[in-house]
Amino acid sequence: MQVGLSKGKIYTVRDGGITCHLCGMTSYNRDDIREHYCGNCKVFLDTVTYQEAQRLHKTPVVLRMPQTTHPSGGVYAWVAVVLGILALALFVLFWR
Ligand SMILES: [Zn+2]
Repeated sequence: MQVGLSKGKIYTVRDGGITCHLCGMTSYNRDDIREHYCGNCKVFLDTVTYQEAQRLHKTPVVLRMPQTTHPSGGVYAWVAVVLGILALALFVLFWR
């Protein structure tokens, strides 16, 4: 099942229920429907970020991103991620 994350629509409200496209669960809780909340994912589906959606989704999210033409682009992305984690670790260490 494709998830229309690009449209920011990751739920469907119909037939008196709300279906979460991340986990596939349908809730008939009135509060869930009103607030667009998934009790299974424990997120408000209107405000869920792309990262959260990827983490919560039970099957791999199809990325609708243009294929990188430079193979090294992926490496730079990973370096950026590692540096970010290191910076966060240092921040936590020095904060204490
Ligand atoms: Zn869900």
